[in-house]
Amino acid sequence: MSEAESNCQHVVLAQSPLGAVSLCPECGVLHLAIHNLSLRFKPSAFAELTRLLNSAQAHLPAEQGAMLAGAETVSIH
Ligand SMILES: [Zn+2]
Repeated sequence: MSEAESNCQHVVLAQSPLGAVSLCPECGVLHLAIHNLSLRFKPSAFAELTRLLNSAQAHLPAEQGAMLAGAETVSIH
């Protein structure tokens, strides 16, 4: 989408075996990287995503939540 990205210095905000979230201070864009998948969000969209994920997690039956807690795999449907 923007080749200017290559000059950007990303600051890693959080990392896990699943992936990482980094911030590009220049662009004000958040990058969500999961394996070879990378998504970019405006801060407001990222906040909305966080809300969405938290809501989904909250609605997940407890036993499945526990099962997924150690998962490091993502499948795209
Ligand atoms: Zn950037």
